[in-house]
Amino acid sequence: MANELQPHQHQPPSVRVFGRSGSAEAYAIRDFLHRSDVPFEWIELANDEQARQFGVNGANDPRLPVCEFADSTRMERPTIRQITEKLGWFHDPSRSEYDLAIYGAGPAGLSAAVYGASEGLKTVVVERWAIGGQAGSSPKIENYLGFPYGISGADLAERAREQACRFGAELLLAREGVRGEFAAGKRTGYLADGTKIIARAAICATGVEYHRLGLPNEEKFYGAGVYYGAGASEASLCGNEHVFIVGGGNSAGQAVLHFAKIAKKVTMVVREESLKETLSSYLMDRIYAAKNIEVLTNTEVTALSGDEGLRAITLKNRRTGDQQTVQTRWLFICIGGVPNTNWALEAGVVRDGRVISSRVQIC
Ligand SMILES: Cc1cc2nc3c(=O)[nH]c(=O)nc-3n(C[C@H](O)[C@H](O)[C@H](O)COP(=O)(O)OP(=O)(O)OC[C@H]3O[C@@H](n4cnc5c(N)ncnc54)[C@H](O)[C@@H]3O)c2cc1C
Repeated sequence: MANELQPHQHQPPSVRVFGRSGSAEAYAIRDFLHRSDVPFEWIELANDEQARQFGVNGANDPRLPVCEFADSTRMERPTIRQITEKLGWFHDPSRSEYDLAIYGAGPAGLSAAVYGASEGLKTVVVERWAIGGQAGSSPKIENYLGFPYGISGADLAERAREQACRFGAELLLAREGVRGEFAAGKRTGYLADGTKIIARAAICATGVEYHRLGLPNEEKFYGAGVYYGAGASEASLCGNEHVFIVGGGNSAGQAVLHFAKIAKKVTMVVREESLKETLSSYLMDRIYAAKNIEVLTNTEVTALSGDEGLRAITLKNRRTGDQQTVQTRWLFICIGGVPNTNWALEAGVVRDGRVISSRVQIC
């Protein structure tokens, strides 16, 4: 087996995922399982012969990726919704009306769920992807009160989920709020699958949409070499590889340190002159102390190239204009995001000017 992702938390894997390298669909599944704290094993099919051992015709069989569950259920090209159904996590709302409906199960939505449900409010949380939001992709959060030695984002999210559920909050996963009607005392949320949620109050904690670099091919390579956020699910696949991380903030800094434990070399690509303004000092000290980390300031990524997956990136020094093309299969983009508040416009909620210039790069 060419490349195996070890199940995290040292638990036996409850899901085996197999597929080909550079598959965006396989990445989505790994990302979801990792964020959801589900132990899994990733088997990257190196060739047709190996693929046949796993019951498909070849490494490019259109039925890939395949998930196999502990009870031997096999799912070909499953959607995230089908996986949540299989895990027993997909539910219909149990009530026709709630006191509080929360959209988004990141840290903000989960906190609201804990406090709403603990005060006796009939609370429902709607999440389109996995619990934890951006925090779910963080390898180690060290500045959160009560965790002196840090905690992984996925672990923190799982604890918050458990806490909210213990107080009676209901969680609807793999459901996306697409429209809202807010009348006095009655908030109606319409979900993408046609479900309607009625509540006396609604909290939209929908976080951010990640900034893109805005380069040609970026969309094409998403999940096949280009990733947004810290890509915690991918770290153990990067052994002996040169990984590039774009961004100079704390999420980029965390990602750099995390990948440096596994990768041969990690390069941090930063547009600014220095990291001082954007990075916490505890992260900066560790980055400069690490032998396999390189920091390129005044630098930006100007081109992506490859075939089915990313193979090389072009870096430009913003001061001198010098360009160089370097080989890599791994580019993680941690340059923040814009508030995910387009829904607010239609619902008549006033937004400030920061959202208007969406998709602007701010590293
Ligand atoms: C790699 C990384 C590391 C970080 N490390 C730290 C750290 O160490 N310390 C720290 O303080 N902060 C850290 N942060 C920042 C922190 O994670 C964010 O500030 C925090 O997650 C914001 O929480 P939120 O709930 O507001 O939004 P988000 O985390 O963005 O969550 C929003 C949620 O809403 C969901 N959603 C969006 N639209 C819909 C919809 N229409 N219907 C249903 N659901 C929807 C999304 O899927 C998502 O789950 C880090 C961020 C990243 C990316």
